[in-house]
Amino acid sequence: MDENSLHLLLENYTALLKRVDGHIQHIEKKYAAAIVCKKGCDTCCKFLTIFPVEAFAISAAFIKLPKKIQAKVIQRLKNQDDACPLLIDKACVLYSARPIICRTHGYPIYMERGKKPLIDFCPQNFKGMTSFPKDALISIDPLNTLLIAVNRHFLDSIEATPPFPERIPMSNALFILNEID
Ligand code: SF4
Repeated sequence: MDENSLHLLLENYTALLKRVDGHIQHIEKKYAAAIVCKKGCDTCCKFLTIFPVEAFAISAAFIKLPKKIQAKVIQRLKNQDDACPLLIDKACVLYSARPIICRTHGYPIYMERGKKPLIDFCPQNFKGMTSFPKDALISIDPLNTLLIAVNRHFLDSIEATPPFPERIPMSNALFILNEID
């Protein structure tokens, strides 16, 4: 698959990333004093499984990394621990291409479970805050619904045979573009 075709296939996903980033930038700006997320804090960076559309996007970014960094990631994969292999020297080597879950980590995630509203966030952030205005929240269920629809459309467009699994471990996702024509 050439770079231009992939770029077109990933348009919906890229648009969704922009929307998520826009909302997160709003939260970061408005609640800057309550957010302590910074480079070097890697608590959230656990080994992930991601949707195929996200796998193609991260694989496209991975193959553009310098070979030296790719080698470090591959070495990291051999550890088989629960850390994300893209975490090198306590920083994400593909930060600008990271999946949606990584972009939302740490911020107040709103969800409803059994009709009960829940808000989850990193305990290092928003210390002392007991309630959250709506614009500080990320509603995860509608976001996941959108991501699933974008992924479905992507899979329909590439007509992959055999079909991809629903979720792909990061260890396979990074190399997915090497495995297709
Ligand atoms: S992709 Fe980057 S931000 Fe996401 S878990 Fe891995 S190292 Fe962390």
